[in-house]
Amino acid sequence: MAAPRLSFNDDHSIPQLGMGIWQVPNDDAARTVREGIANGYRLIDGAAIYRNERGMGQGIRDSGFAREDLFITSKLWNADQGFDSTLRALDATMARTGLDYLDLYLIHWPRPAADLYVDTWKAMIRLRDEGRVRSIGVSNFYPEHLTRLVSETGVTPVLNQVELHPAMQQKALREAHARMGIVTQSWSPLGRSQMFEDPTITDIAARLGKSPAQIILRWHIDSGLSVIPKSVRAERQRENFAVLDFALSSEDMLAIDALDSNTRVGPDPKDYNDAPPVND
Ligand code: NDP
Repeated sequence: MAAPRLSFNDDHSIPQLGMGIWQVPNDDAARTVREGIANGYRLIDGAAIYRNERGMGQGIRDSGFAREDLFITSKLWNADQGFDSTLRALDATMARTGLDYLDLYLIHWPRPAADLYVDTWKAMIRLRDEGRVRSIGVSNFYPEHLTRLVSETGVTPVLNQVELHPAMQQKALREAHARMGIVTQSWSPLGRSQMFEDPTITDIAARLGKSPAQIILRWHIDSGLSVIPKSVRAERQRENFAVLDFALSSEDMLAIDALDSNTRVGPDPKDYNDAPPVND
């Protein structure tokens, strides 16, 4: 079964369910991506700083799938923010992956202390206008960062990829996205496993004969989010993809909605300014 798609504000669309590859070593990335595609994923979420873009490109070629049947994301790393350096960083990503175009290019973090994300966005707009990337978006942006991009360039990101799982539901940000026409995509959607023992999740899982991971992923889908769980294990890749043939009741959705505790597993983007070189 193919994952449903969410429409962007630029006439393109994205599969709702994909696979992330953060922390997959480069020499395991080709296998992981090839197996992920064989297991049903058409959206692969990469980034320059994952330092596995060569392996990702190899896995895409090894999959045997036509490029236009896949949806490939990469992200502009913090150290490469700025107009000219963004153009160079995309060149480097294309050289490493061996791809002709990206479906989606994201600014990885706003990195507020550098105050370069507007110039970076202007370069992303040029890359989109040149056809080198189909769609452009951001990651880890707060509403004030989004508003500034729109007011200074007139171009609204198609998507904001943010930390989102039952313990960190980002309700205010999602309302801002809905107002602005921005798709919300959930990173660390499983909360890096911390919710697998939660009794609300385990009770629903036992009643429906599903795993806790499947219940959490279905909650993302039924919430209208795009979601990119990561696994290097083919069996878990299949488990995480097998969430398209059932739905949660409104009671179960409300029970999971009530688990929000505003608890992050990652850094707060307001304070995150790290920028080591990609060095790959
Ligand atoms: P996830 O919530 O996807 O959890 C991944 C962890 O859960 C891994 O340890 C994985 O182990 C394990 N796991 C996966 N499936 C199952 C399962 N069915 N049962 C039990 N354990 C499971 O976290 P990530 O942090 O990896 O986030 C997903 C993706 O989001 C990343 O890969 C990346 O693409 C993106 N991301 C983006 C960020 C950003 O700043 N934009 C920040 C962080 C992530 P194993 O692999 O061994 O199976």
